[in-house]
Amino acid sequence: MSSASWLPLFLRLRDQPCLVVGGGAVAARKVDALLASGARVTVVAPVLGEALRGLREAGRITHHARAFVASDVDGQVFIVSATERPEVNRQVAAAGAAAARLVNVVDDLEACGAIFPSLVRRGELTVAISTGGAAPVLARQVRARLEAMLAPSLGDLVALAARWRQRVQQRLGSFGARRRLWERVLDERGAVLQAFTAGRPDVAEATLQAALEEACAAQSTAARARGFVSLVGAGPGDPELLTLRALRTLQDADVVLHDRLVSPEILELARRDATREDVGKLTGGDHAAAQEAINERLVELADAGLRVVRLKGGDPFIFGRGAEELAALRAHGIPFEIVPGITAALGCAAYAGVPLTRRAVAQQVTLVTAHCERSMDRLDWPVLAQARHTAVFYMGVGHAALIEARLLAGGRDGATPVAIIERGTTARQRVLHTSLRGLADTVCTRQVRAPALIVVGEVAAADAAFAWFGAADAHAPVPGDARALDVAA
Ligand code: SAH
Repeated sequence: MSSASWLPLFLRLRDQPCLVVGGGAVAARKVDALLASGARVTVVAPVLGEALRGLREAGRITHHARAFVASDVDGQVFIVSATERPEVNRQVAAAGAAAARLVNVVDDLEACGAIFPSLVRRGELTVAISTGGAAPVLARQVRARLEAMLAPSLGDLVALAARWRQRVQQRLGSFGARRRLWERVLDERGAVLQAFTAGRPDVAEATLQAALEEACAAQSTAARARGFVSLVGAGPGDPELLTLRALRTLQDADVVLHDRLVSPEILELARRDATREDVGKLTGGDHAAAQEAINERLVELADAGLRVVRLKGGDPFIFGRGAEELAALRAHGIPFEIVPGITAALGCAAYAGVPLTRRAVAQQVTLVTAHCERSMDRLDWPVLAQARHTAVFYMGVGHAALIEARLLAGGRDGATPVAIIERGTTARQRVLHTSLRGLADTVCTRQVRAPALIVVGEVAAADAAFAWFGAADAHAPVPGDARALDVAA
């Protein structure tokens, strides 16, 4: 079987000459499909079966009652060979190929230049399914699933859109406004589809009319409608950890302003036409100036009437400077929403199998930023050093020695387990288990790189972890450092 893949395509066959070779039941099915697309069908076959005879008598097809000859392919846009005789089918395929025609040969994938997909149809909404001929049964199963999934009245929705498209175009000048209207109206769970489902096409029509009036009003009054900013947490890396709401904002976005921490797989999920801007680059040197630049950019884009997604790693309110950006938006009267994300501590703990709290082992958790020495000086180290307390350090890779020294000075036992989780929840996750006394050494010798989290506490012991994600060797105690505390819960 050929390993070449296929180009999915919809052919406009209205009034186009098409040839079907063969007169039996299979040929009749293909003729039906072609007639349904408006093609002008000629059938070449010595005799016709009942179904095709009926079509000939109704004048819907032209019939030549004879064997196929190569010149039959002349002038045909599309040719189907559906005889029961393989040698005739091959002859048709060869003649078609010689004349550079598209040919479908029933039951002979190798000879096909075009194949018929499995179809799910709701009026003009067409879903075509193909496995390239490799697994027709699978294609049928997928088709059955889609049949169950897609509401019968989706076809009505498409017909409604076709009827109104021009009117909407005339009344709503901006492309963005039109897209928003259609997104609202064509929503699969929306009022319009529900009206069709309830057998009320009049209500569906009225709902669209009302939505259009509203959109027109918004267009003229709120003159060039103000933009909108969604401050969105993207989670720690694995795209599956996005919330449904985050996904929706991404799919509605005109512009996505993202940090360097946000993975390409997640950006991939944004609307195809959305512009992506990496503002992580800005945060190279002077942080305050960089933040100022991001704030300004947000305001500028929103003022231009765009839907902006400000996408941050983890959660926007955990060491994400979310508050500063919101303050800038509020100062300019720009409307916003806040979509939480799974913060690195929660995501990494889960994917490293380290429960951050555990009965009798750890009753409190603190999320700590170890971003700069100055801020670390302000931390209450004796509190962080308390037993049965889990401290999760963000941005700590560069300050591991300081964290180790301060916790020891604060009274934490040097044997307290530590887990270092690098690039957590991603395919490149690495988990290192060590002890507080071995922390700085491990970061250095094992060349830990940001982004990584340092989890200090009884819960971080290697032998108490529920490792499940990633390669086995990416989750190992650092040799010579297995001084785990007793964490039997
Ligand atoms: N707002 C983010 C944190 C931003 S600060 C959140 O809620 O997660 C950036 C720090 O987060 C990194 O230095 C690192 O300590 C941590 N971090 C983010 N993603 C991480 C990941 N996938 N694995 C380990 N640490 C991560």
